[in-house]
Amino acid sequence: MSIADNEVGVSASIGISYFPTHGEKLSDIITKADVAMYHVKNTTKNSIIQFDNNMLQALEEYCLLETSCERAMDNGELYLVYQPKVDVLNKKVVGCEALMRWRHPKRGLILPERFIPVFEKSGAIHDVGIWVVRQVISQVKSWQAEGFYMPNVSINLSGLQLDKPDLIYRLLSEFAGAGIDPKIIEFELTETTMMTSRGPDALQSIELLRQCVYQVSIDDFGNGFSSLSYLTELPVSSLKIDNSFIRNMLHGGKELVIVNSILSLAMNMGLKVYAEGVENLRQAEFLCQHKCFLQQGYFHSNPMTAEKLKEAVIEWESKTSHQIDYGDQPHAQQSAVLMNTA
Ligand code: C2E
Ligand code: CA
Ligand code: CA
Repeated sequence: MSIADNEVGVSASIGISYFPTHGEKLSDIITKADVAMYHVKNTTKNSIIQFDNNMLQALEEYCLLETSCERAMDNGELYLVYQPKVDVLNKKVVGCEALMRWRHPKRGLILPERFIPVFEKSGAIHDVGIWVVRQVISQVKSWQAEGFYMPNVSINLSGLQLDKPDLIYRLLSEFAGAGIDPKIIEFELTETTMMTSRGPDALQSIELLRQCVYQVSIDDFGNGFSSLSYLTELPVSSLKIDNSFIRNMLHGGKELVIVNSILSLAMNMGLKVYAEGVENLRQAEFLCQHKCFLQQGYFHSNPMTAEKLKEAVIEWESKTSHQIDYGDQPHAQQSAVLMNTA
């Protein structure tokens, strides 16, 4: 359509409901058509869909989480667990990733894949993001006070937290005066986030983090179908290979080619590379044979509370539980300590 000489695209999100299947009163039928329409808007967009009861359940769930998200922080329903990142060659825990959990009074334990999208849509992600940073700061400080040194702690950032540099300033101001070496804090941003929030503001936010000497890594790498040229533009320090590739790499498909390509790309660009979602010894060994020693996954350890993590790291680093075959690597004679809490 053309308005004042400008071409304007028009799209339609349409929800359909039927009488009497979806209600006998006009108001019920309109409400359900409305629910279906919002479902289209929130998912595929620009298409037509018929109401079904699952949409109502999803909407009720969304409303329940949205109305309780502010209270969640105040009531201590949110908490962080930490999953170790290990260097299997040097038998070391090289860091950990902070992962959020929500113990909801009505729904029980909820995982981030269900609540992060609600926080993002409602805007609560900004306050929750600050809460995560505060929790990590206080955890690192208490580990330090106990004489326990964690070399690196990753914090996941949502794309919305990047969109305005003042939000990043707000987040960074939390670190001011905390007495924590910025080099030990790593911000993880998914490849999709980096690709979709690549306006000048997002790039400025990433540069700001790097100027303040924080580490920035690209999470779920390989999954965003992006052009690799952006790697030359973004000031990142490491890549985390998406766990779908690690899960399928030994099944004889294209995933193996992708893992190998990412490993040589990262090596040639001087980037650290982590494999995440390592679930078994075969995957861990295979990655080692391809010089990918930085690993994270249930095979090494599940995410756990900060207290348990400290105890486990001290214990794991003092004993050998798995032998890794390094193939023709120069360190083949060494055995690695891996940890498995399963
Ligand atoms: P992610 O950053 O890719 O985190 C890794 C996810 O994989 C975590 O799920 C972790 O528990 C899970 N995982 C770890 N090892 C294995 C494994 O061996 N196999 C499999 N299949 N999964 C494994 P989780 O904790 O449910 O978090 C899901 C996503 O939610 C995270 O994906 C991250 O994108 C987001 N998230 C978590 N915490 C936060 C947070 O504090 N802020 C923001 N913005 N996002 C968060
Ligand atoms: Ca992550
Ligand atoms: Ca990931």
